[in-house]
Amino acid sequence: MEPSFTNWPRPLDMWPLEMMLVERGWRPRAKVLRPLTRMAAARIVDAASRLGACITPRGGGSNVVGASLPVPCCALLDLTGLGKILEFNDEDLYIHVEAGARVWSVEEWLNKRGYTLGYHPQSIRLATIGGSIAMLGSGSLAPGLGNIEDIVLWLDVAIPRLGLVRLGSHTSPRGWTGPGVKHLLIGSEGGLGVIVSAGLRVRPLPRHIEARAYAFPGFSQAMAAAREAAIWGVARMLRIIDPSESPLYGAEGALLLAEVETPGEGLLASRLGYLDSLASRFGGEKVEGVYERWSSSRYGYDSYLRELWGIGLWVDTIDTAAPWSRVARLNEELKRSLSSVPGVAMVMSHSGHIYPNGASLYHTIVMERRLDTYWRVWHTAAEVVRGIGASFTHQHGWGLLRKHGIDMLGDNYRVYCMVKEALDPGWALNPRGLPSRCRRIGEG
Ligand SMILES: Cc1cc2nc3c(=O)[nH]c(=O)nc-3n(C[C@H](O)[C@H](O)[C@H](O)COP(=O)(O)OP(=O)(O)OC[C@H]3O[C@@H](n4cnc5c(N)ncnc54)[C@H](O)[C@@H]3O)c2cc1C
Repeated sequence: MEPSFTNWPRPLDMWPLEMMLVERGWRPRAKVLRPLTRMAAARIVDAASRLGACITPRGGGSNVVGASLPVPCCALLDLTGLGKILEFNDEDLYIHVEAGARVWSVEEWLNKRGYTLGYHPQSIRLATIGGSIAMLGSGSLAPGLGNIEDIVLWLDVAIPRLGLVRLGSHTSPRGWTGPGVKHLLIGSEGGLGVIVSAGLRVRPLPRHIEARAYAFPGFSQAMAAAREAAIWGVARMLRIIDPSESPLYGAEGALLLAEVETPGEGLLASRLGYLDSLASRFGGEKVEGVYERWSSSRYGYDSYLRELWGIGLWVDTIDTAAPWSRVARLNEELKRSLSSVPGVAMVMSHSGHIYPNGASLYHTIVMERRLDTYWRVWHTAAEVVRGIGASFTHQHGWGLLRKHGIDMLGDNYRVYCMVKEALDPGWALNPRGLPSRCRRIGEG
């Protein structure tokens, strides 16, 4: 069977392991419910909790960690029927949109009117608004414009026994005025409530955007420049490409890509000048054509995957994060340890989300298509992350895949489990996803 990330056989999500299981004959089975109104979605949640049944909420199915895996005993709640834009206010700068709308369709709608969400994940054409919120998504513009949590003003959520509730605030520009309960839903992976619509911040499209690429002798020098740029907020996008990945863009050494946006030309010139001087301070120099090669291939994962599948290989990506003092070590250790797993053909890395206090890392592992290789890779990554004291995920979430590392969530998971018990005591919502270890932890 050939994989296709654009014509994925429904109702599969995009966990690379699932594709291998499908190749071995596994066929997911679940009853699918597809509400067309927010009220209908809320009634399904209510009925499931009253009848002792369970549902797996599902948006675009683009998660890569088994977060909405169809299981026979639970109905799949397909939220893509909730795709409407409910309200747009260009004075107060917000949009109220149903949760099943694809991020791309909302972005396109806004762009036509001169506005943007500023949230641009690589999966922008696949992911929904609700799925992005439930998975704590992060886009490429995180350094300048923030992540999904920075644009959520309020959420309308169906919670068992409570019905439809609004969390956050549509009257405060801050998006909340008291206890931060809306934040409980952000990153909850479908376990605490079904998001049916969201009020999101929007901003006018920038007047001036320019991009640059710099080559550095090594990852550490590119990292030092990126750190400084993030501290002073000069760029909306920063991306460090490790020497292991630079050849993809026809370059050598480490690379730093940057995008700058401003409302005026003078400000643009001064920010670019600052970036040029910053790069040269750390031994970097401007390189032409590299940003353009990255930019034109950034959404082209489909053909790449087909090629790998065709030659008997498969690929997964591991997103991690760390404070600056540990980023370079985490990068090196992951490359070294993962390369030595038997069956791994290649490891590449970059850092795509950069903050004043640290960065995420993204390792791409090309490996033979074997289940034991797959799990060895993931267990090795968990050990490295645990040993260094880093974060086991940054934007892809936990799902079923990262169960073996759930202890790294620490007290956050214990509190999540208590909230789960309080909001959903009958375990109607996604019992096989992120919450699935809660009972064991509670008992232990
Ligand atoms: C090629 C590729 C590139 C990617 N790039 C990025 C990236 O740049 N940044 C990033 O953050 N992620 C990325 N991802 C991962 C994925 O796109 C995100 O996790 C995305 O946010 C999932 O959204 P979805 O609508 O597809 O959710 P789904 O996969 O359908 O569901 C994900 C989880 O959210 C829950 N859920 C879905 N909708 C709702 C709802 N309305 N209410 C409550 N719970 C809900 C589900 O139960 C499940 O637990 C990428 C994935 C792929 C395949």
